[in-house]
Amino acid sequence: MSNSATPVAFVTGAARGIGLAIARWFFHQGYRVAVIDNDAPTLTTTEATLRAELGTRSSDLLVIHGDVSDPLQVASAVQRIEQGFGRLDALINNAGVATFKPIGETSFDEWRWVMATNLDGPFLCVQACAPLMLQGGGGAVVNIASISGLRASTLRVAYGTSKAALIHLTRQQAVEYGNAGIRVNAIAPGPVETEMAKKVHTPAIRADYHDTIPLARYGSLEEIANAVGFLCSPQASYVNGQVLAVDGGFDAAGVGLP
Ligand code: NAD
Repeated sequence: MSNSATPVAFVTGAARGIGLAIARWFFHQGYRVAVIDNDAPTLTTTEATLRAELGTRSSDLLVIHGDVSDPLQVASAVQRIEQGFGRLDALINNAGVATFKPIGETSFDEWRWVMATNLDGPFLCVQACAPLMLQGGGGAVVNIASISGLRASTLRVAYGTSKAALIHLTRQQAVEYGNAGIRVNAIAPGPVETEMAKKVHTPAIRADYHDTIPLARYGSLEEIANAVGFLCSPQASYVNGQVLAVDGGFDAAGVGLP
């Protein structure tokens, strides 16, 4: 039975894909979980699925329809978490969008959309969540970056740049909040089969990933969620400001992105 001492996680972009797997990881560990997503229809379906899975623990779920790149919506979401759960122990900045295009074909609107979601979102969420986390003595933040933030490529000017900036934002946040008790780390996933991957991974990109990733396969949702969970756990209590590539050895192989 959950009570005011039960830890709380906030997962952004959790209506589907990696974010939903991360939300499930926290439920399995006994957390109460708040999720936010700007895709209302998918969020409604996912809410019904999660409530059915949770059964008598349904009150452990707080579902918020909102946009992480909007400061007012982020502030309102954190207010609802404080009112509903009274504490916050883990924040996972997972919401993200992608365009895989070269510089000449990337419109300024696409550039702004990717930056607003992938970079403004984690900045705003950490800024808004930190005071609530600090009320309880601290917590852990994990930013979901990408191997696209570690390697440049011909197709990822907006996406790769946003994720590289998110990796540096992670270090800034870790340095600034570490002394207060909030650890901040990033995960750099390799390819994972999600709606995002279906949209941007062409057959040529898929074949290239197969050839360049030492484990020769995509990662699973659970493999990413497990790594996020580790970084939020007491086992990672001295890990701060790091980027953990969960990529089947792609980064270690030192090859270029397709
Ligand atoms: P996805 O598109 O399946 O899910 C992303 C979720 O974020 C969606 O539910 C979407 O509605 C939500 N979202 C998007 N913009 C939002 C906003 N402004 N406010 C609130 N919610 C918003 O994608 P995914 O593959 O599960 O990606 C999750 C994260 O993992 C992203 O940050 C992505 O960049 C990163 N990532 C994915 C892969 C991959 O291969 N799938 C690889 C590396 C990193």
